[in-house]
Amino acid sequence: MLTDIIESDKVETVKRLIEQSRSIAIVCHMTPDGDALGSSLCLWHVLKAMRKRVAVVTPDMIPSSLSFLPGADRVIVATNRTELSHEFITGADLLFCLDFNELRRIDRLAPVVEASVAKRIVVDHHLNPSIEASVIISHPEKSSTSELVFLLLQALGYDELIGTESATCCCAGMMTDTGNFAYNSNDADIYNILARLIEKGVDKDALYVRLFNTNSLNRLRIMAYCQLRKMHVLPEHHCAVITLSRAELDEFNYQKGDTEALVNVPLSIPEVIYSIYLREDACDYVKVSMRSKGNFSVKNLCETYFGGGGHRNASGGEFHGSLTDAFECVLSMIPQCDKLIAEQNK
Ligand code: 5GP
Ligand code: MN
Repeated sequence: MLTDIIESDKVETVKRLIEQSRSIAIVCHMTPDGDALGSSLCLWHVLKAMRKRVAVVTPDMIPSSLSFLPGADRVIVATNRTELSHEFITGADLLFCLDFNELRRIDRLAPVVEASVAKRIVVDHHLNPSIEASVIISHPEKSSTSELVFLLLQALGYDELIGTESATCCCAGMMTDTGNFAYNSNDADIYNILARLIEKGVDKDALYVRLFNTNSLNRLRIMAYCQLRKMHVLPEHHCAVITLSRAELDEFNYQKGDTEALVNVPLSIPEVIYSIYLREDACDYVKVSMRSKGNFSVKNLCETYFGGGGHRNASGGEFHGSLTDAFECVLSMIPQCDKLIAEQNK
């Protein structure tokens, strides 16, 4: 049995809005991950089966590791097809915002969405959504937006419209946001949904290989290099920091996604409570990723020091400046983190 977590008045409003709409845009956050794209494409397949004019619009490129998802080739990527992406959003009478809680997460699409007169529906699992919408389905206790989309489709009575392709996208989202059911996954709903998805024809084992056990040689080399040479572990501070400069990224012919999940690796050391990865994506621009264990929140750190956010145990942000300065910024956080950890251990 699945739990009815979405209020029935919200379900009714979503149903009415879908029925009344002719053209529907689904938008997810920039640098879309498995859950952003999985939830969006899961819904896209269903709305297409209802013969709606519908498109998934992403602010920027889909990582090549996710291009196998059914329907990924039909996504409108704003960086490649700017005009079309704007036209589609502007012409839509309903807009789904999936897997993000604030408009700045959709980067260049934010002003287009803001200017659109379309009704909005937010489905998300990040804390404190700040997007104005007709319906906000926000459940931070859920490990993925894909799971929420599945529960919504069930509540809407659309189960029969979920085919193998839609189910595959949903499953991919649930798997990526739980690290293949390794964290945030002590929730029976997940496995009840998983059973239904498999009944719908999902090949979970094949998805595992595509999502978690497919590496390029470059990726294997860069991951090994980072662990051998670039992982600074400060056990007395329960902290690990990995940095990669532009020159190092170039040396390994880095492609987007090549260091996916690298930030998790140091957490396997029992003493390490939080892990930080600084990647010099461009001159004076450093992408920041943080992960943590237990009650220690990296969300607050990312908000305070790196203008970002996310979840308690998985967050990100950015630093405008040199990699050295970003590293200094991390070092400056450590005394505060020491205090927080000491308080939590009291
Ligand atoms: P990752 O470290 O995998 O890039 O991101 C982990 C999580 O942190 C994402 O799922 C997202 O919720 C959040 N996140 C990553 N980068 C940013 C950012 O620049 N701003 C905000 N607000 N959240 C971010
Ligand atoms: Mn997500």
